[in-house]
Amino acid sequence: MNSIDKLTEIFSKFPGIGPRQAKRFVYYLLSRNPNFTQELTQAINNLKKEIVQCSECMRFYPTAGTGNNMCNICSDDTRDQSMLMVVPRDIDLEAVERSGSYKGYYFVLGGAVPILEKEPEKKIRINNLQETINKRQKDLKEIILAMNANQDGENTAEYLKEKLMPYKLQTSVLGRGLSTGTELEYADPETLKSAFLHRTK
Ligand SMILES: [Zn+2]
Repeated sequence: MNSIDKLTEIFSKFPGIGPRQAKRFVYYLLSRNPNFTQELTQAINNLKKEIVQCSECMRFYPTAGTGNNMCNICSDDTRDQSMLMVVPRDIDLEAVERSGSYKGYYFVLGGAVPILEKEPEKKIRINNLQETINKRQKDLKEIILAMNANQDGENTAEYLKEKLMPYKLQTSVLGRGLSTGTELEYADPETLKSAFLHRTK
């Protein structure tokens, strides 16, 4: 396989990128000067060195090199200890955080459970979620399931409710100010705020 095909194959694995777009990226790189590609490879190399995964909420964050494996949100004990919001991806956490409406803790599930999925535990971080809940159980009162407003999101919420039943915690879902089909990352701050305030228990 030549390097054009090889790189096209790699870019095709990116979310939402098809083979034709992938090939456009490759030709774009070829059209740029060597500094650009050098900067790109450097940035990619640094990514894995500088960004680590939080042991508590599982989100990716820039490590300060302190050896502490908790992100700034999880290690902030002025936040509301009684709430844990479960979101599908890092980008959703950022959207909710930007809306400024929520002051509790988060957990990044890492995806969703499609309908009829036989092995949900391979699609989402359910085991890590249970560990985090165990750790926070002393103060935790409510788990907010902030899923995307689509079929997979609803299915994931149902799956989680069942899994979290034994904890006897209040579970709530975001209010349907989010219109059907909306993914959290595209929801504007006001909508997110109202969806949080009108969450259903
Ligand atoms: Zn964290």
